[in-house]
Amino acid sequence: MKYYKDHYDVIVIGGALAGLSAALMLAEKGKDVLVLERHNLPGGVATSFVRGGIEIEAALHEMMYIGDKDNRQKVGKFFDRLGIDIDWLKVPEAYHASLPGIEATMHPGLETFSKEVDAVVPGSYDKVLGLLNLCADVYSSVNELSVRSMSKAQMLLKHEAFVKTAGYSTKEVLDSFDLPQKALDLLAPYWIYVGSGFSDLPFTIYAVLMGEYVGNGSFIPRKFSHEMSLKMAEKAEEMGVQIEYRQHVDKILVKDGKACGVRTALGHEIFADYVICSAYPNTVYTKMIEPASEVPAEAIKMVNARRLSLSAYSVILILDKSAEELGIKDYSIFRGKTMDTDECYRELGTLGPYSYLTCICHNLANPDATPPGTCSFSITVLPRVDAWKTVTADDYDRVKHEIADQLVADMSEYLGFDLKDHVLECVIETPVTVARYTGMYNGCIYGYAHTMEDHIVARLQTADAEHFIDHLEFSGAHQISGDGMGPAVVNGWKAAKNVLNTMEKEAE
Ligand SMILES: Cc1cc2nc3c(=O)[nH]c(=O)nc-3n(C[C@H](O)[C@H](O)[C@H](O)COP(=O)(O)OP(=O)(O)OC[C@H]3O[C@@H](n4cnc5c(N)ncnc54)[C@H](O)[C@@H]3O)c2cc1C
Repeated sequence: MKYYKDHYDVIVIGGALAGLSAALMLAEKGKDVLVLERHNLPGGVATSFVRGGIEIEAALHEMMYIGDKDNRQKVGKFFDRLGIDIDWLKVPEAYHASLPGIEATMHPGLETFSKEVDAVVPGSYDKVLGLLNLCADVYSSVNELSVRSMSKAQMLLKHEAFVKTAGYSTKEVLDSFDLPQKALDLLAPYWIYVGSGFSDLPFTIYAVLMGEYVGNGSFIPRKFSHEMSLKMAEKAEEMGVQIEYRQHVDKILVKDGKACGVRTALGHEIFADYVICSAYPNTVYTKMIEPASEVPAEAIKMVNARRLSLSAYSVILILDKSAEELGIKDYSIFRGKTMDTDECYRELGTLGPYSYLTCICHNLANPDATPPGTCSFSITVLPRVDAWKTVTADDYDRVKHEIADQLVADMSEYLGFDLKDHVLECVIETPVTVARYTGMYNGCIYGYAHTMEDHIVARLQTADAEHFIDHLEFSGAHQISGDGMGPAVVNGWKAAKNVLNTMEKEAE
């Protein structure tokens, strides 16, 4: 116990992006913070690993909320403000879409993107730009409303587009623009990042996705997502945060309805006024609260009622030639046999074959990502967690390799050569890899699904009612700002802000 103090202001469980961002924000306010991470390094999914002497990105395709140097977005601003110096590289295109009857490369910028849709579907420019401007408008309202509360009347006056579209699905709003199918197809590929079919996806979420990715573009750190994790951890320690690795938290100690500490797998009991937790509420309320009698029935009902979103399955290849030599032209490729997102979503509930996938060739945004004369190429699908729950231990290897074969064959057909002839290294990550590495419930990376019946706007309004144990906050993809690395950082701030607000209220 000698390396722990008798008491902390806040214990953060999990030293990945969400946990570290919470710790940084609390340290900025002078709070005494302990971060407990079960691995021997920070970052969780935001990490890399080495195979055959080559460093390989574990997860990141592209990150939102960074922005160019002269147009920094909220997460980019946060890093700049704290002096966390990350070498951001802008992803050159939005995506290359390889869809039925379409081969088109789209670029960020609302007008540029609209022109590119128009080149495929002549005459669609005005309507597409109208739709993208609506997305940008709703997105800017969401940004403002997430930091400033206002009355419904004020909201209607200042955020009309947001209010008017909030009750509609993405499909309903897109249909109202009366666009030809090909134009709709070109506007759909990013849907996979939020993982509900368009007839069940609130338009608000689609608008945030398009407003940010098409409006501001996406970014990656030159030294992989682990650059962010390492620099955040380094800065946190510089600011006085104590980070202890190899410390798995087994229990969150609760007394009289209030979190008061944790117990680690080594049996250490450590005490604090507040606990912030990166693990999913599903794990926390069913396994981690001690005593279990402190878990209110409503908490169990909430986690059972909420639908978990998607996990990830990736085949990451290091190839024996450069992207130029192999004729790979785009950093990001979305390829689908259909852009019927409801149908794709249904398919993600199976173990394949999958007809919608996303690929990254890192070297096309980061030329030095692999040694000269090689390149990295990854193929990803985002299956629903319920699909993978059916895989038995005996069948795991077969399922894992069958899916890899399908994805590699599909992309070989697209590229016009057999990827298998060029493989130096091959790594397959499945939902089980994610679950085992991060402890994320069922390997879920996208938190709770955004749906029309569990709408983000309603969640914002019921956030207080979902606060079941005092002085316990959650941070991670399962929280209000949702999934992805940028949102994970925002979720960390939100958890820290809730702690700071409660501290202030209780001190009054
Ligand atoms: C293959 C793949 C591709 C992805 N691509 C993208 C992308 O292109 N863009 C994007 O924005 N996002 C992407 N994501 C999602 C993104 O990586 C995650 O949403 C985000 O990194 C989650 O961060 P987090 O801090 O919430 O949690 P995690 O990274 O899951 O980390 C949780 C941390 O908590 C620790 N922990 C858990 N339980 C305990 C415990 N009991 N005690 C101690 N420590 C504990 C874990 O070890 C881990 O370090 C991808 C994810 C995957 C898997």
